[in-house]
Amino acid sequence: MATTEPSVAPSALEGFARGLRGSLLRTGDAGYDEARRVHNGMHDREPELIVRCAGPADVIAAVKYARSEGLDVAIKGGGHSVPGYSSIAGGMLIDLSAMRSVRVDPEARTARAEAGCLWEDLDHETQAFGLAVTGGQVSHTGIAGLTLGGGFGYLVRKYGFTVDSLLSVDLVTADGALVHASEAENPELFWGVRGGGGNFGIVTSFEYRLHPVGPIVTGGMMLWPGTAARDLLRFWADYMVQAREELTTQFAFIHLPPAPFVPEDAWGAAAVGMLTCYAGSPEQSAPVLAPFREFRTPIADMVGPIPYVALQQMINELVPHGNLYYSTGNYLTEISDEAADAMVSIAHSAPSPMSFLGIFSLGGAAGRVAEDATAMGTRNARFSAEVISIWVDPAETEANIDWARQVGAAVRPFGTGSAYVNLMGEPGADVSSFYSSATRQRLAELKAAYDPTNFFNRNANVAPAP
Ligand SMILES: Cc1cc2nc3c(=O)[nH]c(=O)nc-3n(C[C@H](O)[C@H](O)[C@H](O)COP(=O)(O)OP(=O)(O)OC[C@H]3O[C@@H](n4cnc5c(N)ncnc54)[C@H](O)[C@@H]3O)c2cc1C
Repeated sequence: MATTEPSVAPSALEGFARGLRGSLLRTGDAGYDEARRVHNGMHDREPELIVRCAGPADVIAAVKYARSEGLDVAIKGGGHSVPGYSSIAGGMLIDLSAMRSVRVDPEARTARAEAGCLWEDLDHETQAFGLAVTGGQVSHTGIAGLTLGGGFGYLVRKYGFTVDSLLSVDLVTADGALVHASEAENPELFWGVRGGGGNFGIVTSFEYRLHPVGPIVTGGMMLWPGTAARDLLRFWADYMVQAREELTTQFAFIHLPPAPFVPEDAWGAAAVGMLTCYAGSPEQSAPVLAPFREFRTPIADMVGPIPYVALQQMINELVPHGNLYYSTGNYLTEISDEAADAMVSIAHSAPSPMSFLGIFSLGGAAGRVAEDATAMGTRNARFSAEVISIWVDPAETEANIDWARQVGAAVRPFGTGSAYVNLMGEPGADVSSFYSSATRQRLAELKAAYDPTNFFNRNANVAPAP
């Protein structure tokens, strides 16, 4: 909750506010509640100050002001952090969500996007030229947090993790300096921001390499009854490790929603689904997808030609703002019979019908990048098993968090021992679950160089090396 007594001197604050091109918001100001709102309804926090930045100059001013007043800060891009890192009680919220411009160079196939963009912004601008970069599969997610953690979605097997297409960033350091990082300039910082999250500073813009995609791809969802879960999971996993790289899919243990494409008597029934993207020519997709259709006839088959931007928005409404969320995950290199048994035994037992265990296919281009090329590691993973608990009644919080933890624990013995940093719902999780010891050491040294006082600490936090 916000403190009742302001902790900052009014005169200094007025001077700071006057110097902004964006705006400074406090409790009661128009737009304050909208600006502090984040995706996960678990984190309803009231910052003392919200700086709605209009550009890098405001970000620099906010960092300097927070340092001078000893304020804790949180950084908000798209606001989708499941553990609530982009919200703060008291202190200062540095809100980048008004910084949403995108400049595409169709000739050079690059885009520079401001850090408040959502994936829907970047997809919209790049798809005008039939181009895209690997983005998240929910287009109201922010590009900033997703990219800084590594990033994967429907193009991951064809074009690698999001960071594999990152060309450079502009970043405001804990001292309030603006630096550029790329392979050529500040290369160690550039290594660190490609997977090391928001530990080193506030990125104000990202420059991406773009790739030809669509605009029409083959995508959508196939559904089968829950009774087919084990056989299908084994078949799917074996198929995906050798599938064409144009094909990226997510296998999911779900309960059927009350939707028009589901027969009414099946609403709420246990089922498995395969979210699909074939990012190649539609003609090529038929033989690639036929084995799934032949293995077991789907009860609903909604995979077909679809604009890439529409595919990116397809499940947006299944994960709306304001619901309560918790997540955990594990990387796997294979899904053995035993792993499949473990998943099947627990995955349909969620207390909430909206919750699911989803297994994202990785590998392909993401697996070909050297392990030490970026802070985003575990390149040998072929699957990311993600448990997403979704519920609405706060009285059911404990049961829903418990279920996600139980599923995570059931899958863990079959995993690599690491997990995707961006899908950890637990604030303060030990970073040894995300990074190898060599990567942790390198990140800690980088942290000591760029943020020795750990000013940026609302993230998967890397302690500065001594
Ligand atoms: C519904 C949903 C779907 C998702 N789907 C995917 C998916 O398909 N693929 C995937 O890879 N991940 C996915 N994620 C996870 C997602 O990558 C993370 O939640 C990510 O943090 C979201 O980025 P954001 O900008 O919206 O987050 P925010 O909550 O705004 O930021 C999260 C944290 O990132 C850091 N940060 C944000 N902006 C900056 C910045 N400009 N500079 C420095 N640090 C910054 C800060 O530490 C901040 O606290 C999903 C999450 C949700 C809730």
